[in-house]
This record gives sequence, C-alpha cells and structure tokens, in this order.
Amino acid sequence: MIKFATLCTLLLTSTLTYSKTLIHAGKLIPANNSEVLYRATVVVEDNKIVGIESGFTQPESTDQVIDLKNATVMPGLMDMHVHITSEHNPNNYVQQFTMNPTDNVLKGVVYANRTLMAGFTTVRNLGDRGNETIALRNAINRGDIVGPRIYTAAKSIATTGGHADPTNGRKFDLMGDPGPRDGVISGTDEARKAVRQRYKDGADLIKITATGGVLSLAKSGQNPQFMTDELEAIVATARDYGMTVAVHAHGKEGMERAIRAGVDSIEHGTYIGDDTIELMKQHGTYYVPTVTAGNWVAKKSEIDGFFPDIVRPKAASIGPLIQRTFARAYNAGVKIAFGTDSGVSPHGENGEEFVLMVQAGMDPLDAIRSATYHGAQLLKIDDQLGTIEAGKLADIVAVNGDPLRDIKSMMDVVFVMKDGKVFKQ
Ligand SMILES: [Zn+2]
Repeated sequence: MIKFATLCTLLLTSTLTYSKTLIHAGKLIPANNSEVLYRATVVVEDNKIVGIESGFTQPESTDQVIDLKNATVMPGLMDMHVHITSEHNPNNYVQQFTMNPTDNVLKGVVYANRTLMAGFTTVRNLGDRGNETIALRNAINRGDIVGPRIYTAAKSIATTGGHADPTNGRKFDLMGDPGPRDGVISGTDEARKAVRQRYKDGADLIKITATGGVLSLAKSGQNPQFMTDELEAIVATARDYGMTVAVHAHGKEGMERAIRAGVDSIEHGTYIGDDTIELMKQHGTYYVPTVTAGNWVAKKSEIDGFFPDIVRPKAASIGPLIQRTFARAYNAGVKIAFGTDSGVSPHGENGEEFVLMVQAGMDPLDAIRSATYHGAQLLKIDDQLGTIEAGKLADIVAVNGDPLRDIKSMMDVVFVMKDGKVFKQ
C-alpha cells in the first residue's frame, strides 16, 4: 500500500503543471531601452513572457513562484562566438588524426551543458570540423539533451592554405585537395558552392576566415586571405539563403575588404585602424571582441611546448592586443556583440568576458546589453529574444547581488530558464 501511495505522489508531482510562473526579481535588467527595475515580477506562461508587473505579485493557487528577491534578473545571455564541440589543448594538432566527428559531438554534449549552466541560453557556433554542431543543435532543439539554443555556421570557409584550411601543416600526401564541401575555396564559383553546401547541410549562417589566425599551422596571423570578388560572392550567396556572414579577422586590410563587401560581424579585429572603425560605423558592422581568447592564448604562449613553434609567436603578439582594440572600438561607438571564442578557452567560463570588457572601460549595463539585446540583433532574432518584454520567449537568468556594481557576479549565474523551463535554480 505504501508503495502504491508513493507511486501516486510521484505521478501527481510529475504531471503537476502550473498555469503561470511568477519570478520575483529584486532587481530586473530588461536590457531594452527602459531603466533597471527594482522589486518587479516577471510573469511567464508556457514558454513566453506575458508581462512585467511592479512589486511582488501574489500567486494564485495554481501559480509557481520563483524567489529571486536577492538577485538581479536579466535575459538569457548570448555568446556570439563559441566552438562548442572542442576545447584547445596541446594535443589538438594530433587529435585531428585520432578523433572522429562523433567524438567531437559527444564532447559537445558536455560543453553545451556547461555553457547553459553558465547562463548562456543562446550561442553562435563559428566553426566545427565536420558539421557535428548541426546534429548537436538538432538534439538540443528536440529536447534530447540539455544545452543552449545553437546557431551554427558548421565548418568555416577558408581559402586554400588559409586559416581554417584543415590540412595546413600536414605532410604533402596527407594534404589532399580540400574543396568547397570541406570549407576550402579559391575563386568565386567555389565560394558560392561552399555557401550553398552549408545551406544544404543545415547551417544557420556563414563563417569565413578573412585573414590569418593564431592557432593555424601557418606563418601569418593577419594577412588578407580572400579577394574582394570572393567576399562579394560569399555575401551575395548568403543573402539569397537568408544567412548572415561572420568574419574572423586580425589584419586591417582583410577586415576592411570584408566590411566593404557587406558582412555582418568582425570577430577579434586585432589590428583595427581608426579608419576601419569609421568603416564599421558606416556599414553598421558588429564587432565581436573575444578578449577572453586573446588573454588565454597570450598566457599559454608563455608555457614552453604548449603551442607548436609556428603558433607561439603569433599567440604572444596578437593575444594581448585585443583588449585595447576593444576599448578603442567601444569608445568610438562601434556596435559590440559579446563573444568569447570559448573552445579556445574552456567552456562554461564565458562570463569572464564581462569582467575583461568592464576592465577595458565598458559600462556594465552596456556589457550586459552586448550579451543580450545586441546578440539577438546580430542573429536577427530580436523579435523573439534578447530582452525581458511581454511576447518574448522566456529565456531568463539571474545572478546574486548587483552586477552593475560588481561585474564579477556575471561569472556565477544562479538561475537559468530557457524556453520557459528551469534548468538551474
Ligand atoms: Zn573562433
């Protein structure tokens, strides 16, 4: 009989559905243009925010209350630059010969969980090895595994020998001749084919590597690697399929060619010039700083043997510059969207970027808006996400205390709701 009673209780608990969830917020950052609110209630029904009420609304008997009276509540955080199926380590260069995409996707399951628990309910994945982030995204969307909403570029597009040509540095007989399917192009026809292939594969957006990069086995970390006609072919084709274009760039020339071609965001932007900044403002191009990645590679470059010899000097010279570049771009009024390049640095530590941005002079509220409102704008999903407003999807997180006074609290998210469902409390 006892067993039967226990079973009934369990059944009751599991089928109990609340008509509404009332989130009592001590402090609320809606992240739109309105001010910070004190003592407010966010009302959630199913997966949507249906209202914001002043004071702590008393629940009806069928309502669930979430007590965040001592916390600061804000929209789910968005990281515009992650690689969720990998994490850099000294064995990475060997692992491309020993690990399959299936191994990567299983790592991604762990990293996706960590990312969501850190308060990041949406991420933009800018490059994987073999489309594994498409499968990961689909599994999360089905509810099979726990993770953030993923918008993925799948495998990035590089030019032959460029940053993200996966065969760089191999011995000749292992290089093969990678093409558009592998994300390696030369010329406009291959550029168009690579974009269309990604659309066919199920990618959400396009990522290209417009200049050299730090971690590839190649000499230059900043030379231009796409011609203007190739960039224009990429952007025009992406537009046809409703895709945006994110651009890895350290060097000035490659970055400026990409901005002129009409891309949506510049990632890293290390050697940005004052005229580049003006060009970005003219074109409305977003800047995604990834200060965390710069700091991380600079630190690791001090360790003997951590990076191959060809990578180490690039990490040491480019890494430390990004925070200063970010300060210049922010002060000049370039649109900033939050991005860490996690996957270079460990997943789940994404919140450190807030600290580095504020250290560089950013207003804490602007930093939070860069990871909510501006992320949603860059992804063109600002009609559904990015702010706490009636009608938006219920992606809501909270930190203890006041991040506007102590930005470090962003590294310790205590509450996570995604799509109206609580994942951390
Ligand atoms: Zn990256």
